[in-house]
Amino acid sequence: MSLKQEAKALRACKGCLFLQKGSDFMARGCPNCEDVLQMQQSRDAVEDYTTTQFEGGAAIIKPPESWVARFMRLDRKIPGMYAMSCSAKLPAEKQAQLDGTA
Ligand SMILES: [Zn+2]
Repeated sequence: MSLKQEAKALRACKGCLFLQKGSDFMARGCPNCEDVLQMQQSRDAVEDYTTTQFEGGAAIIKPPESWVARFMRLDRKIPGMYAMSCSAKLPAEKQAQLDGTA
């Protein structure tokens, strides 16, 4: 892929499955996980903590009332587009920090 295509391709955050363009992860980081993953302005972090290997996509408009959100345990996350599943995992210590168990 060219750099331009790469910037436009949707990527999924490995922490919360939030979907946005790679260029948006670079510009803003992940709206749910930025405190831990700190992807803003870091191409390396974006490549490590997001992936293009995800399946599906669902829009979560109002998290608490959406059955999809409950099903996906996203009820505490911001509205947006989320991947349905993703096989790539965060490093264990990052996932533990996100889960609040670190
Ligand atoms: Zn995230």
